[in-house]
Amino acid sequence: MLIAKLQEEQQQSISLWEELVNTASGSDNFAGIEQVVNIVLKATQPYITSHQIIQNETQTLILERKGDLQGTILLIGHMDTVFTESQTNDWKFTKDGAFVSGPGVYDMKGGIVQIILALKHLHEIQYKGYTIRVVLFGDEEVGHKYSDISTIMKATKNDAIVCFCCESGRSDQALIVGRDGVAELEMQVSGQSGHAGYITSDTGNAIKQLALSIAEVYAITERYPTVKVSAGLVTGGGATNIVPDYAKVIFDIRYKNNEHFNEWWHELSEAIQAKITATTVSLNLRKGYPPMEMLASNIALFDYMKEIAEANNVAFTDYLHVGGGADSSLYANEGIPTICGIGPWGENLHTVKEKANIQSLFDRTAILIEAILHIERFVKISATQTE
Ligand SMILES: [Zn+2]
Repeated sequence: MLIAKLQEEQQQSISLWEELVNTASGSDNFAGIEQVVNIVLKATQPYITSHQIIQNETQTLILERKGDLQGTILLIGHMDTVFTESQTNDWKFTKDGAFVSGPGVYDMKGGIVQIILALKHLHEIQYKGYTIRVVLFGDEEVGHKYSDISTIMKATKNDAIVCFCCESGRSDQALIVGRDGVAELEMQVSGQSGHAGYITSDTGNAIKQLALSIAEVYAITERYPTVKVSAGLVTGGGATNIVPDYAKVIFDIRYKNNEHFNEWWHELSEAIQAKITATTVSLNLRKGYPPMEMLASNIALFDYMKEIAEANNVAFTDYLHVGGGADSSLYANEGIPTICGIGPWGENLHTVKEKANIQSLFDRTAILIEAILHIERFVKISATQTE
């Protein structure tokens, strides 16, 4: 069994995990990210045919193992963690029974070890099928604010037939095939100021207009079941006896489907403008991660993974659509069949109690390798589905 084979080098794998976890790499810690890049490069050098570091404010690492067949299998993940250096100073990698803990052990240094082990094994069996391309981001946790994501996407998506995202696995053993798209909508109202006691009409009241417009946003959104809004932040006004001439709200927006989202936005922006009286309302939509739509191809990929897992006596329970955006969304949005959350599973993500299950590193690496080795089967399934 492949799992047992991978476990033969359990100690080395855990040491590598330890080295990665003890290298602090919060998203703002560019030097730490660079250190992680170097650790990964050193560990994978014998198994890859080329690599590229995209240097923006932070680094993105791309590894490639060239294959003979036309087509590329993407393995993606990120090197940054949510933890600051002060949080990680006294908090190091520890092993306790079936679990390991430490900053980023679960999200997602374990996934990086998984990718390295997979490359190693593919090298050992002299895999020559499809090209394997690994993309490791340095700023996933902050929505890629330190890198030029569109250039990176252009450089990495070509020729991809499938994308495995080695993000933190869920403890309920489900895999992720869909994610909400994320956006922010800022609405600013400018009005007419005056003394609250003296004015004869308060049509220029920016807060009043803002409140009406917020209600309008909610009313319109009710007709779009795949779009969700939440007014999260409001500012405006100076004193109760002054009619405010300025107010602002920022909405958090989640959506499941690009087409519905565009329709929603079209209706909303027209409706809001049409209702304005003595104030001006400006809308600024900032898009974050696109949605990972729950496409049939992603579900087919889940079915394929589940079958492989079962053959290895590992269970994947279900496929899910979840709220938060992630890098898997970027590739899924390019039409590449994508599955997310295949890294080792754990608990207490993004908290100081973060921990990961050791056995799952080997189980899930074996499944990833088998999935790569037999990907032809999946490609055939998805080809018949689109015919
Ligand atoms: Zn993550």
